[in-house]
Amino acid sequence: MSENIGLYLHIPFCRSKCPYCDFFSMRASQEEYDNYVEILKDKIKYWSEKTDKTVDSIYFGGGTPSVLKAEQIADLLNTIKNSFNCSPKMEISMEANPKSALEFDFMTAHQAGINRVSLGVQSANQNELRTLGRIHSLEDVDSAVNRIKSSGIDNISLDLMLGIPSQTVDSLKNSIDYCVSLDVKHISTYILKIEENTIFYKKRDKYNFPDEDLTADLYLFTVDYLAKNGFGQYEISNFSKVGYECKHNLKYWNMEDYLGIGPAAHSFMDGERFYYERSIDKFKNNEIVKDGHGGSPSEYIMLQMRLTKGLNLKKYKEVFGALPDKDFFEKIKKYSDLGYIIYDKDIICFTEKGFLVSNNILADLI
Ligand code: SF4
Repeated sequence: MSENIGLYLHIPFCRSKCPYCDFFSMRASQEEYDNYVEILKDKIKYWSEKTDKTVDSIYFGGGTPSVLKAEQIADLLNTIKNSFNCSPKMEISMEANPKSALEFDFMTAHQAGINRVSLGVQSANQNELRTLGRIHSLEDVDSAVNRIKSSGIDNISLDLMLGIPSQTVDSLKNSIDYCVSLDVKHISTYILKIEENTIFYKKRDKYNFPDEDLTADLYLFTVDYLAKNGFGQYEISNFSKVGYECKHNLKYWNMEDYLGIGPAAHSFMDGERFYYERSIDKFKNNEIVKDGHGGSPSEYIMLQMRLTKGLNLKKYKEVFGALPDKDFFEKIKKYSDLGYIIYDKDIICFTEKGFLVSNNILADLI
């Protein structure tokens, strides 16, 4: 049980809906933004009375938090600081998209405490951006990064997407070169997943999605090329310069406590998992769905194995009192012989090619 906690605030609004996106987000009016901020403030106060843990990271995700005014982000941060015990040195991140970032006042947000921005770039190729339904251009990304840097925020992360229809290793190299040229600290690369209830799913036959082999090539190229450019991999999809790993997201994989406030936000606190459903009304009424006990040995293995540092067996034994059973180690040996896993002394971790099939291996292991 940890004394610290990470806070996640979900902002469920976007200027337009991307055809591949299954996040809980919608278009809304300024009045709806304003009302939502008041609901969030109310829930921040509610939760601050339920726990005396110290908040040591805050993450505004979405949706697109940068559709709010910077003053509203500041208002939310002040509410958190006035309600919760807060660590004096917090990582406070917000997601932004390049278009809305052009109007967002990062200076005000930085003064209020924002010290990390994650920008959804997705690709540096106009045809791929069009396919993804993204409304920004590369000029927008350049301007957004300049605006963020000149506000004093130097911890910038860029999101890239792998597996875009018609993407090639060359076009991906162009996207990575572009991100590297912007001199940022962190890059996340997500493999496009076709989720039901999206336009991509409905029209999936019309797109030329990369097959499994090409997707594997794209992923392995990314890991190798980002390393050559100074971005070390620390998680399946995350890469950073030394010391710039995302502290908030590490909490999820290290099974530390976090509290998600907002519709569709999940929490893990004092060994219990719970969440809010995908409805602003239900969130407003504080309808919390209990999701059972968390923190089992299987969960711990699954989360730690997402990290390149992998599972530390000594630590596992400290937490759970005993090592995993014989069957587990026999399977580890099998996958290690196949080159998917490295098992060295007390550490078990995936190789690069192991990460690509990690879901299947983990399902077999636990
Ligand atoms: S901007 Fe992000 S959250 Fe909003 S619709 Fe597009 S992918 Fe989804």
